[in-house]
Amino acid sequence: MQTGTATISNKAVDRLQAGHLWIYRSDMVSCDSSPGAIVSLVDEKKRFWGKAFFSSSSLISLRLLTREDRSIDQGFWASRIEQAMRLRQQVVSGTEVYRLVNGEGDGLPSIIVDRYGDLLCLQTLSQGADALKSLLVEVLVELFQPGCIFERNDTRIRELEGLTLLSGALYGKAAQEIICRENGLRFCFQPESGQKTGGFLDQRENRLEAQKVGRGRALDCFSYHGAFALHLARSCESVEAVDISETAIQQARRNAALNAINNIQFEAENAFDRLRLLDNLKRRFDTIILDPPAFAKNKSHITSALRGYKEINLRALRLLNPGGFLITATCSQHVEEAMFLNILAEAAADAGRKVQILQKRTQAQDHPFLLSMPETLYLKCIFLRVID
Ligand code: SAH
Repeated sequence: MQTGTATISNKAVDRLQAGHLWIYRSDMVSCDSSPGAIVSLVDEKKRFWGKAFFSSSSLISLRLLTREDRSIDQGFWASRIEQAMRLRQQVVSGTEVYRLVNGEGDGLPSIIVDRYGDLLCLQTLSQGADALKSLLVEVLVELFQPGCIFERNDTRIRELEGLTLLSGALYGKAAQEIICRENGLRFCFQPESGQKTGGFLDQRENRLEAQKVGRGRALDCFSYHGAFALHLARSCESVEAVDISETAIQQARRNAALNAINNIQFEAENAFDRLRLLDNLKRRFDTIILDPPAFAKNKSHITSALRGYKEINLRALRLLNPGGFLITATCSQHVEEAMFLNILAEAAADAGRKVQILQKRTQAQDHPFLLSMPETLYLKCIFLRVID
């Protein structure tokens, strides 16, 4: 492993002291090391501040690994991953699918490991993490004895790091499909071709909660492979599930069949159009889920993203019967909770509906976030009830 030194500004030191793990390019004075190296951080007076991944191409030049002056060897990674595993032993239950390592939230910056039964899906999203790939595989094999470790390094974020996009088995042989249980329901995951690493694991606890409050006629917009819809099918009379992707809808149909569920109707359609049509048809629902993709991928898209969130929420609120529930999410990191609540308030006012908030929820506990790093809290999931 290459080492070296990065000199950081006083502003960067203040950020580290406040508990942030990232140092931007503008706060790095110099670095004598090569891309992907683990470097020692010093200020301009040569005081030591910790060790970090160095990235030569990202705006995030340094990602803090430790404040201690210690060697970053295999034992370091094994112990961080073990810590992450212990948390999951405490907070995850009733599922074979969960996030085992959540990057910064677990002190393992830019490293993601999702577990699908005995398959582990690895993402190394910075130059530093990528350089460690084979070592991480060794550690994961030793700790978990998985049947397969698969890399889903085909996410565009890697382009910011100058890394190529690739996916494939790193250990063992990957099955094209794997059936795993989440909250007692069976889902077929495609580690190679599914969205994200195969599923949207961050909503797992919210799906269980949605099942608890769900009743009557339900509508699941942006349903992907039917995860919310299948949960609602257990507590609601009927469910309509909509996703723009024909492939996602086919998988959702299969997942319903896998669980012998037959009260869901699936439509491959644009949810914006569907919501408008349902309103024109004067259809009404008792439970609606809105779980769209991130409309704001970066800060410059916030205004148009808010317009999108307002439109779908306004339409959904109009479609609800009095006493009905809206479970509405945003996974845009740039749309903060206060902004989202503000949009929901505007949507309710424009729809002429009075609403109460029942729960303000976030990503499941296997996606921990840091108090000192707002960037690590991205999912907001609000449970509303229409009073009248
Ligand atoms: N609710 C899902 C995750 C949704 S991810 C779950 O719990 O697993 C967002 C989904 O929105 C993706 O499946 C994507 O295909 C779909 N999507 C994106 N734009 C859409 C649109 N305009 N209308 C309907 N679906 C859309």
